[in-house]
Amino acid sequence: MGAAIRAAKSGLKRGEVPIGAVIVYEDRVVARGYNRRAEKQLASAHAEMMAIDAACRKFGSWRLPEGCELYVTLEPCPMCMGAALNARVDRLYFGAYEQKGRSMTKALAEANLLNHRTEVQGGVSEEECSALLTGFFSGLRERQKAAKAAAKNSGNNLSDGAQTLD
Ligand SMILES: [Zn+2]
Repeated sequence: MGAAIRAAKSGLKRGEVPIGAVIVYEDRVVARGYNRRAEKQLASAHAEMMAIDAACRKFGSWRLPEGCELYVTLEPCPMCMGAALNARVDRLYFGAYEQKGRSMTKALAEANLLNHRTEVQGGVSEEECSALLTGFFSGLRERQKAAKAAAKNSGNNLSDGAQTLD
């Protein structure tokens, strides 16, 4: 999960929502990805998709070899869980939960779609993974607040100017 967290931080440096993912095969990281939705302006540019695509290219196959594991800092959305099942990922470990007590990921994994089961374990390094996201969003809110205040101040200046004109 450490490698996935490092990937998330790469995204953070580029102004993306910090979510990172890696594919591990035979105890080695073989592919990594981070959320690039803002950069690419693509709804599908999630960290898991980036990592799964990179792993498929590396192995030259849409079907990943047996024993591949996906580590991701945030619980995958249905699209990414679908991609993991399609690529035949055997085990999925995620950090932060998307919605407490309502895990769609587990339900999808247990639906036995595509005749493939992916073992799922959530809450791995949960605290560190959650902190990345809450830190990002509280920073974003602070910046938005500051921008609003700045806009308001410049608005006041304009009305001051208008009063002077009167
Ligand atoms: Zn996703």
